[in-house]
Amino acid sequence: MEYRFDRLFIGGEWVTPIDGGARPSIDPATGKPWGDVAYGGAQDVDRAVAAAREAFEGPWRKMAPWERAALIRKFADLYATQVDALARIESQDNGRAIRESRGDIGLHSQYYHWFASLADKLGGRTIPMDDSVHAFTTRSPVGVVGTITPWNVPLMAAAWKLGPALAAGCTLVLKPAEQTPASSLALAKLFEEAGFPPGVVNVVPGDGPVAGAHLVSHPDVDKIAFTGEGATAKTILKTGADTLKRFSFELGGKAPHILFADCDVENALNAATGSAWALCGQSCALGSRILVERPIYEQVVEGFRRNAARVRVGNPLDQATHMGPQAHQQQLDKTLSYVAIGKEEGAELVSGGARLDGDGYFVAPTVFAGVAPEMRIAQEEIFGPVAAIIPFDGEEEAVAIANGTQYGLAAGLWTGDVGRAHRVANRIEAGIVWVNTYRYIRWSTPYGGVKSSGWGRENGIEALDSYLETKTTVISTTGKFADPFAN
Ligand code: NAD
Repeated sequence: MEYRFDRLFIGGEWVTPIDGGARPSIDPATGKPWGDVAYGGAQDVDRAVAAAREAFEGPWRKMAPWERAALIRKFADLYATQVDALARIESQDNGRAIRESRGDIGLHSQYYHWFASLADKLGGRTIPMDDSVHAFTTRSPVGVVGTITPWNVPLMAAAWKLGPALAAGCTLVLKPAEQTPASSLALAKLFEEAGFPPGVVNVVPGDGPVAGAHLVSHPDVDKIAFTGEGATAKTILKTGADTLKRFSFELGGKAPHILFADCDVENALNAATGSAWALCGQSCALGSRILVERPIYEQVVEGFRRNAARVRVGNPLDQATHMGPQAHQQQLDKTLSYVAIGKEEGAELVSGGARLDGDGYFVAPTVFAGVAPEMRIAQEEIFGPVAAIIPFDGEEEAVAIANGTQYGLAAGLWTGDVGRAHRVANRIEAGIVWVNTYRYIRWSTPYGGVKSSGWGRENGIEALDSYLETKTTVISTTGKFADPFAN
């Protein structure tokens, strides 16, 4: 497949930006541009929204749900043949180790297949009433959706939104993050090849405060599906308030990964260290706070030190690499600033904590031990490969620390006691809790945050709810309506 990055994809055509242009995209492994990528402005967003509206009112809406499903499946099959190419494009743009990108992107076609299989099963329900009426619900697509995605997992964030949105019958404008726009344009190529009607999927890379904000305030966009930071979500809510459109938000996290003394420590360490440094620490679900019960505390700190030394940091395109660079300069600076904060706060730096030599944005896997729950490195999302190990005594304290942040996206706990597993999982404030495993996520498992971690759920049947409107119809079985003024 020939991919191009120098045009926007609008209305089924590769077009030159009207009020954007093309600019270098940086390879974070070298700190240097790898090529030019198109970006759009407000007028380009207007064109894309108009194309999405036309497709929504026209061919997409007129298709039977099983015809839409067949197209999504065709796209999914094509996607499966392109895993390697897509993984290379994404890893070059955001620095994710190719072994991770391949693994993640290798699952995406299954997301699209699963949502395709639901497209013709989105009926409503009949509502039990008295004999005088029949009442039932029908469900229809919300309309044109603006999808705004982050730089850490552009294709995954797209799959989680486009799968349910297309199955529900919506049309879309996808605006990827300005730091990593390339893979979303490659995605557009696959929609074109699969034969989607023009305008069903449009891809317009661009700056958040320009193209993103214009999409959010656009009166002809019915819903925004957003993944990114909480601060951006608050801005988006304000920008979109006048249009009263729908919003779903997948936001940040500071997931607690709790290791009780009765757990299988070796397996727990595999999960805890693997998930602290996956994606170079740049994922919302990673266990960035490791809560360790005191009897196994020294053993776990030592395990983190040992595994930090085993992480192969390097060229993300090399299959042997475990961890690539931070995705961009700003994120590198942010991570290093939190390392300084951790030291100032008095946490014990066990490993890493420094930028690696060279022009790329590489940071060594970093471990802080002796972290107190109220420290900033235990409260704020760093989004770098920085593990904060917090000791605790007993279940009550574990739950209090786990719930003691503004976030509530994901959590993990390790224990040999099945009763404790249920008790603690039940009390943790999070959209998903893993017990004796970590980061097991699939198309069928609902995912999303409570508290400041988001609104709504992606994946699972629940994901479809935010792309559908429910209408209730009540029909009289007699046609009789009592005279209101009879007496
Ligand atoms: P970000 O909020 O900076 O950017 C996300 C997207 O929003 C980008 O496309 C950006 O261009 C756009 N944007 C920025 N300003 C905007 C504005 N004013 N109007 C409209 N759009 C605007 O987030 P990021 O730094 O790209 O991503 C990292 C964040 O995403 C972290 O907080 C992470 O936890 C979160 N995240 C959450 C999940 C999840 O599933 N919950 C998954 C991945 C990432």
